[in-house]
Amino acid sequence: METNELFALALGVKEPWYVAKIDLSPKEKRLEIALDFRRGGTFLCPECGAAGCKAYDTEERSWRHLNFFEFATTLRARVPRIDCGRCGKRLVEVPWARPGSGFTLLFEALLMAMAPNMPMAAAARLLGEHDTRLWRVVHHYVDEARAGRDDAEVTRVGIDETAARRGHNYISVFVDLDVPRVLFATPGRDHTTVEAFANDLKAHGGDPANVEEVCSDMSAAFIKGVTESLPGAAITFDKFHVKKIITEAVDKTRRAEREAFPELKGMRYALLRNEETMSDEQLDFVASLLLRKPTMKTARAVHLKLSFDDLYTMGSERAAARYLTRWCNWATRSRVPAMIDAAKTIRRHWNGVLRWFTSKITNGILEGINSLIQAAKAKARGYRSTRNLIAMTYLIAGRLDFNETHLR
Ligand SMILES: [Zn+2]
Repeated sequence: METNELFALALGVKEPWYVAKIDLSPKEKRLEIALDFRRGGTFLCPECGAAGCKAYDTEERSWRHLNFFEFATTLRARVPRIDCGRCGKRLVEVPWARPGSGFTLLFEALLMAMAPNMPMAAAARLLGEHDTRLWRVVHHYVDEARAGRDDAEVTRVGIDETAARRGHNYISVFVDLDVPRVLFATPGRDHTTVEAFANDLKAHGGDPANVEEVCSDMSAAFIKGVTESLPGAAITFDKFHVKKIITEAVDKTRRAEREAFPELKGMRYALLRNEETMSDEQLDFVASLLLRKPTMKTARAVHLKLSFDDLYTMGSERAAARYLTRWCNWATRSRVPAMIDAAKTIRRHWNGVLRWFTSKITNGILEGINSLIQAAKAKARGYRSTRNLIAMTYLIAGRLDFNETHLR
């Protein structure tokens, strides 16, 4: 078999295309493969699919291909323009690359396999390309894969925010809690992000009115956004965020009393734990505070916190409502300012706190996705743009189906 034929076979080049010439430059470590089409060869119209179109004229094109051993490999060809009679003059589609790309499909497939698993700068070094060009490819496939997604079944959604760059910028992430997968990510964390999500859902065959349950933190922006843009949804405030309000109140109380009560020093983590995860020593310490230091606000705050943890063991929304009413009354009379504030916050968000006993949804999945995003971000030492971070979010957690793209 001739070398040219061997390369044609390896590249999957089919008639009327053939490998015309191979140029290996050992010094420059470059391999150039010239492709051409047979005289009289015919092509499909890229617009209407009409067959048998003859070349009208040609344009020179080149594509970066996978390295051949250590040789940077380029394909080169004159690409015919055809005139099918209906669509006017069009550049034909070549089988080894998608229209407009400077890379072959195999090169892009390798890049897309690397992208979720390593920082783009590392992929750029391995592939010998500038990362800006690689990001363009990633954005193309992410957008193409997302375009084919069907959101008709989406009814339960989790919303959370994650830091985009150095903690200043945020992106809001919307997750289908049933699959689970990231449906949508967008810059910002105000109420318009929910509106943008509702529009994106519609664009993918979903219906904002079908969204029955939403899980989020107590951010006023998300509450406003859900009320306006997902009118059929009941909000559940994420259990983790609700408990955080109480533990933060304990911590605030402890800090205020740390000088007056030296025994509180170094006990921060013991005081913030759940009863089940406390060591015997920590349990003894908490019990001794409750027994022997009734004037200490921290002791009362810890007692309130431990009782609050029991809320989530209630068997029904009604039982939970009774329990929470008693708890809020107790906290309000506790003379612990941080706990009085916490009770106020709980009362203001009453329905959403209790909704958990019906919906049983949490954003635990989102916390997991969040840490994946932050780990990728740390590995990449940040992303040049929020848009890049969002593309990575879809790649890592969007369950994109590339069978609907040029990579199929
Ligand atoms: Zn046509």
